Amino acid sequence: MPDDITLHASTRVALTDPAGMLDRLCDHFVDHGTVTREVGNARLDGTFGAVQLTLEANALAIAVTSPSESYLFVVKSSIAEHLVEFADGESIALHWQGDAVGETRIPYFREVVVRGARDITPAMRRVTVACDDPGHFTSGGLHVRVLIPPRGREPVWPSVGPDSRVIWPDGEDALAKRTYTIRAIDHARGELDIDVVLHDDSPGSLWAREAKAGDRVGLLGPGGGDVISADWYLLCGDETALPAIARIAESLPSSARASIVIEVADAAERQEIASDASIQVTWLHRDGAPAGSTDLLPQAVRSIALPEQGSPFVFAGCEQAAARAIRKHLRGERQLPKDRHLVAAYWRRGHADVHDHGE
Ligand SMILES: Cc1cc2nc3c(=O)[nH]c(=O)nc-3n(C[C@H](O)[C@H](O)[C@H](O)COP(=O)(O)OP(=O)(O)OC[C@H]3O[C@@H](n4cnc5c(N)ncnc54)[C@H](O)[C@@H]3O)c2cc1C
Repeated sequence: MPDDITLHASTRVALTDPAGMLDRLCDHFVDHGTVTREVGNARLDGTFGAVQLTLEANALAIAVTSPSESYLFVVKSSIAEHLVEFADGESIALHWQGDAVGETRIPYFREVVVRGARDITPAMRRVTVACDDPGHFTSGGLHVRVLIPPRGREPVWPSVGPDSRVIWPDGEDALAKRTYTIRAIDHARGELDIDVVLHDDSPGSLWAREAKAGDRVGLLGPGGGDVISADWYLLCGDETALPAIARIAESLPSSARASIVIEVADAAERQEIASDASIQVTWLHRDGAPAGSTDLLPQAVRSIALPEQGSPFVFAGCEQAAARAIRKHLRGERQLPKDRHLVAAYWRRGHADVHDHGE
């Protein structure tokens, strides 16, 4: 959550073609925020802050302002990564000045310790972790990247290099990274719950299946932004989005209304959905069909009427093909504006660790 402050950082990067670099940075960031160009300079504005880029003789001057330590780090590391990526082999010497100089930890990284794990349905296991500052996870988004260290090894966590790029452990210390939702936060006990679908011997499933008290994992986040305010919601998804849907439903005020549609393997995978809002829950069962192989969710979304008055919001999280079909339908046939829906691919059939979080 951004504090009510402004942090600053700046650097000057020597380049043989600074104008080309300015063009490449602007072309890239136009997909992530607002780019304002004038002769010899450009300004990039986004959720995480603002970046002023100014051409100098054989150099690009970069000035960043940001409303929080976490956001400042996101902007600096993203600029640094893209400078290196777009430099075409030219070596980049990057020395930041200003706030957070010399900081070697990622501000939104937390090491947490497993307290216990239990099955809440046959295919969903709840891992409870102890966390020193659970309040850190209350806003800014529902999900985290869980960093899973190799079994039996002392964890080596990512750190921040002098140019603000993340240094990831590799080789025997390489971490598996998977995205999960924080299902619940218990401030009094200092605990977070993460509900994990057990589907395979994949890194995420295996971590949850074998989790025992004392295991350490890293969390990066939270991410994804806060839930958009609306007076009518459609919350839909498969079991990977069930934790997000249940948490959103719990957070809705009594004045809200929500249609909730959840696809699961079968009736044994249903869970209680609690809410102060007026909710209508529909369960879709695959009944033997493999996860990610059906058209159940897109079909259900097509059959639901959006209210003609008031402000609707649609949230969907599911396998990539279903997410794409739902997004296409909402934007095409329903003409639902971009700020009225968040449709995310939570996983991709046949591929590990999808990163397409929708828009
Ligand atoms: C924003 C966000 C929030 C998420 N929240 C949750 C959550 O709270 N709980 C949760 O369980 N998942 C959640 N997911 C989904 C989770 O990140 C993926 O399912 C992830 O691939 C699981 O990692 P893995 O190591 O088990 O499998 P991977 O190593 O990533 O994949 C191995 C194989 O398993 C397949 N696979 C992956 N997930 C599933 C599945 N659910 N069912 C069947 N096959 C699968 C893949 O297609 C691949 O073939 C979330 C994803 C996103 C993007």
